[in-house]
Amino acid sequence: MARVKDEDIALVRDRTSIADVINETVTLRSAGGGNLKGLCPFHDEKTPSFTVSPARGVYFCHGCGAGGDAIKFLMDVDHLSFIESVERLAGKAGIQLRYDESGKSPAGPRQQPGLKQRLIAAHVAAADFYRGQLTTPGARKAREFLAQRGFSKDAAERYGCGFAPEGWDPLAKHLRQKGFTAEELTTAGLAKPARSGSLIDRFRRRLVWPISELTGDVIGFGARKLFDDDDGPKYLNTPESPLYKKSHVLYGLSVAKREIAKQGRAVIVEGYTDVMACHEAGVPTAVATCGTAFGADHIGVLRRLLMDTDSFAGEIIFTFDGDAAGQKAALRAFEEDQRFVGRTFIAVSPDNMDPCELRLAKGDLAVRDLVARREPLVDFALRQTLSRFDLDTVEGRVEAMRKAAPLVAKIKDREKRPEYARKLAGDLGMELEPVQRAVAAASAPESQSTARIPAQPADSPQRMVEREALKLALQVPVMAGPMFDALGPETYGHPVFQAVRAAIAEAGGTATGVTGAVWIEAVRDACPDLGAKALVGELAVDPLHVDGEPDLRYVQITLARLQVGSVTTRIRDLKSKVQRVNPVAHKDEYLALAGELFSLEQHARALRDQAAGGL
Ligand SMILES: [Zn+2]
Repeated sequence: MARVKDEDIALVRDRTSIADVINETVTLRSAGGGNLKGLCPFHDEKTPSFTVSPARGVYFCHGCGAGGDAIKFLMDVDHLSFIESVERLAGKAGIQLRYDESGKSPAGPRQQPGLKQRLIAAHVAAADFYRGQLTTPGARKAREFLAQRGFSKDAAERYGCGFAPEGWDPLAKHLRQKGFTAEELTTAGLAKPARSGSLIDRFRRRLVWPISELTGDVIGFGARKLFDDDDGPKYLNTPESPLYKKSHVLYGLSVAKREIAKQGRAVIVEGYTDVMACHEAGVPTAVATCGTAFGADHIGVLRRLLMDTDSFAGEIIFTFDGDAAGQKAALRAFEEDQRFVGRTFIAVSPDNMDPCELRLAKGDLAVRDLVARREPLVDFALRQTLSRFDLDTVEGRVEAMRKAAPLVAKIKDREKRPEYARKLAGDLGMELEPVQRAVAAASAPESQSTARIPAQPADSPQRMVEREALKLALQVPVMAGPMFDALGPETYGHPVFQAVRAAIAEAGGTATGVTGAVWIEAVRDACPDLGAKALVGELAVDPLHVDGEPDLRYVQITLARLQVGSVTTRIRDLKSKVQRVNPVAHKDEYLALAGELFSLEQHARALRDQAAGGL
């Protein structure tokens, strides 16, 4: 087995700046005393405990105990063997390694390096090959594609764009001639074995972009279809390999990482051409995922670059198409956002153009402007959620509130939650109290939430009245009678109250004449869930808010108050609807709504009189 000579290893250690090596992966800041600090790449942390001592050539993490020299760092962070790590550092330092054969006489320089270095070398050679092909006659379509998207020949060269030519195996043949084995090409994902036993190139007749890892080494390719008779997918990427892990890879990161660390900001776009367009337009912090959604591992990579800590918050800006898929992606990003201390923003182009299209249509400035006009992700997510519901109906607003409240509850900055609850209530046209309650419920631990709901809705005046009406129906059903039965579940604001009201109807209503424990049991049996059952038990024994025995007058006042609440809600709905109708363009609709509003307001006045006891 090959062994690198000890003095060469010492030379590699000597010529390597550990700060530079670690800085490729982790943004380091001065920690005083000549030391540097950053977020540990080996464990999840929000305050930096990963310390590097350039003078001593070592790193150490106080959080997880990881530590060692530059060779050890590359072994652990890139999952390299010792020899692979030494080879990579030697390559960067320009050192030609010499190998001992199992401790015997020094051998020549041509030795079997580690697998990863071989695979990287194969990719570098492949990238060269593809780049060379881009100028051939067969690549005309690829050149046109780039030109049509506003990329000059220079730009194409800067991004290493290439062309995978026609034919079964031109790349494989080329690389085999350069000494790479069939197994290496297969493992790298550059080619695959055909049935005949020979190799077939993975990419054929496609425009290709080399994908680099953080250190700048090419580890894979993205390839776009150019010809109509190509029945493969629009984009094809390198498969998972010992080098290429799509959950970690971000296209453009090796170029963008300096600016990302410097500006404390990363812009996430959707495709290779979008990264190019952003960089060309003066947004050098743009990166893109490759063939997968932006996920937790990508966040981990960016967080370490942004040095996203409790005291320093980086910015991640997502640009998305305004279409359904883009919206979904944004909402998913919101879920992931919880792992990120920094602030997350959304930038959606007004015409749903991606950055590449935007640059073509409106120029570089429009791309920079798109990023500048970002909005907080939570605002965007709330807007998208509300847009899925019909806010003209009570049901729509209640459902929208249920879906939106958890988003507000998830806002990391707790002080911002009340502000967003108010905003949500305003957008829904609802009172603040139920929205706050829904947010609080969504913030609470998930356990027991169904059991706790019945006891909760008690402290607003309207909820008190709703409770009181149900208590009357349960405790004095004969007296509550037809007046109670005339008011359906929609009169009640909270879903659990609505469920109890529906159960009373299901049990035959107060008109059945059944009273006492038998009546309560009948209602409990009709309840849809444990929460409603528990509430029935509670309301059956909770004292009524009346001195002495309840009388018919008390029932009338209570039920009038109950209706005031629901009529007021209907009036508010109607008012917001009237405001949205153009009185000139839709005159008939406007007049009908205004008439309805007028009679409802009259009804509300009468109810308020009754509620005040003036029958
Ligand atoms: Zn650590």
